[in-house]
Amino acid sequence: MIMQGKKGVVLGIANNKSIAYGIAKACKEQGATMAFTYLNDSLKKRVEPIAKEFGSQDFVYPCDVSNPDEIKALKVSLERDLGQIDFIVHSIAFAPKDGLTGRFYDIPKSSFNIAMDISVYSLIEVVRELKPLMSSNASILTLTYYGGAKYIPNYNLMGVAKAALEMTTKYLAEDLGKDGIRVNAISAGPIKTLAAAGIGEFRFMLKWNEAHAPLKKNVTTSEVGNSGMYLLSDLSLAVTGEIHYVDCGYNIMGMPATIFDENGKQKIAWNGDN
Ligand code: NAP
Repeated sequence: MIMQGKKGVVLGIANNKSIAYGIAKACKEQGATMAFTYLNDSLKKRVEPIAKEFGSQDFVYPCDVSNPDEIKALKVSLERDLGQIDFIVHSIAFAPKDGLTGRFYDIPKSSFNIAMDISVYSLIEVVRELKPLMSSNASILTLTYYGGAKYIPNYNLMGVAKAALEMTTKYLAEDLGKDGIRVNAISAGPIKTLAAAGIGEFRFMLKWNEAHAPLKKNVTTSEVGNSGMYLLSDLSLAVTGEIHYVDCGYNIMGMPATIFDENGKQKIAWNGDN
């Protein structure tokens, strides 16, 4: 099994719809041992059964990434219970509601700072604190979205945070490359999760992607999970600093190939038979 003998920590499972759940499942199926974190006590009861499903009931720890003491405490727990770690999954993002709607120039400074702290700086801080535990050939994975590369309606503040996260991935990859540690990001297509529920018109986004992606479907958590497992495994030992699109190909499109009418009937197909 590809992940046999590998130990890692997964930050960002809220429920079994979470992208991190899909990654953890793929890693478990390939033999990995994992620790899990939860944001606060009321969310602990959502993460515990998932940890149990993966045989990790003894490796569940609190970690609100906006609190540096909790990241330090996570390091102590991981060192005590797992010793060395081979991978980190950072699947965390947050922006206050006023950063995900309305005019972009109205975003308050306080919301901007919160989004950057939780969605971007947390990756740097987690990596710095956990680095002493990381094996040679260790791999770090974070999650981004196309709205960090191009304008997406309503994604607003999170788009700026994802752009910063993508460059953070690259700078960390260079910095940690000398220690043999790889850092990559998956840019996943839209998936209906708790975090996604905060994005305005999300259902339209799903429909739009399905209609215009080359594969004519939306990506699933298990498909992102398998790609994530590859990036965490020794199959990708020469891959670092990558923003790897797992989006049914949507990002390659410069123009929609098909337009549908309000009844979902194809109106225009750019193949000469309109
Ligand atoms: P999700 O299931 O809601 O996961 C987001 C996670 O972030 C939750 O576990 C949430 O914890 C956690 N989180 C928020 N603030 C935190 C904090 N201060 N400390 C620790 N954890 C915190 O949604 P998801 O869609 O899987 O999101 C995972 C990642 O994928 C995010 O970076 C997201 O931007 C990215 N992504 C999502 C999509 C999509 O369409 N869904 C597409 C591309 C990329 P609680 O739930 O406990 O608050």
